[in-house]
Amino acid sequence: MCKSCASKPLPSDAPNFSEALDYDLSKTWRQTDAYKKNVEVVDKVCASSKDWKFVYEQTLEPHTGDAYLVKKGQVIRMEHLHDRAQVVDWHFITPDLKERSSMGNSVCWDGFYLKKYYQVMSNAGEMKPLVTMVRDDTTDEFGPEGYGNHIWIYHCSPEWQNMFYPDAGPEINSCHMNFVQGFHRVPAIAAIEDEQERKDFVNVLASDHNFQTFQIMDIYYKPEEKQSKIMLGVCGDVKKGDALEFYANEDVYVVVSSCPYGDFTSPVFGDKAKLPDPLKFTVWDTGIQPPEAPEWKDWSGAFYDMVESGHKDISPRTEESLRTVPTSGPNGTELWLNTEK
Ligand SMILES: [Zn+2]
Repeated sequence: MCKSCASKPLPSDAPNFSEALDYDLSKTWRQTDAYKKNVEVVDKVCASSKDWKFVYEQTLEPHTGDAYLVKKGQVIRMEHLHDRAQVVDWHFITPDLKERSSMGNSVCWDGFYLKKYYQVMSNAGEMKPLVTMVRDDTTDEFGPEGYGNHIWIYHCSPEWQNMFYPDAGPEINSCHMNFVQGFHRVPAIAAIEDEQERKDFVNVLASDHNFQTFQIMDIYYKPEEKQSKIMLGVCGDVKKGDALEFYANEDVYVVVSSCPYGDFTSPVFGDKAKLPDPLKFTVWDTGIQPPEAPEWKDWSGAFYDMVESGHKDISPRTEESLRTVPTSGPNGTELWLNTEK
């Protein structure tokens, strides 16, 4: 490591950032008009909850996944039906399948732990808030200091279950299996005619990162390993009716999984396994439209223009092509040669 890298960087050390920006990406995002306008709308939405109009209700049964349509300006509420926490894993996808929740964009802008005003951002290429958390009935007492009550990371999968419960059959439930079920229920996915293509696509979607709610977790640094690791914990106390709400900034399918681990007090398989609790999901029309999504520059158009003009090569990489080293011709860098350093 060079000497200059050894000292901790300071915000003022970022020479290519404008003065308004910061190493703290969240701080940068919160300075934008898009973020501030969304906070204003969320406050309006919360203040008008008595006037919301009921749209529909569904029950998420244990060991299942589902897909709930929530339109722009509507709120989806997840509510406990018992005095026991039930972990839910969440994905969001637009009905045209073009955008879906992105852990990368969400965590960079708003952090790992979801709280009120948290915006779930979509994938690169669009990066819009898909939904915003507008209600969270958990408190700081739900988990020990440092633990998040709702956190982005990942979900339990069939392979994990095989590892934890080698005696269980392949039908043992996992959030991954529930997500597969949920994604299949999105109409545009159900409409994919080729069965294998549809199944493969669903598996790709279900394999993406997601967040869990009502599951305490800590990302902690282990100095002896020089590594940050994940620590799971048993859920805190929950009363019947304790809820979470997300306001839809875009039309979305909310794909949910009832985590087979329930409240993390019992195993999923064997004599001590407990059936998780069902949950109530309701959707409400707030009558309040979200602010305009941030507008980004047309990077995709620019990229394909560069392909067209020969500055970006997207020809397939075959074994033969990889053995050929081009000695002339554009490679893209010439577009930047006049950029001031
Ligand atoms: Zn799970």
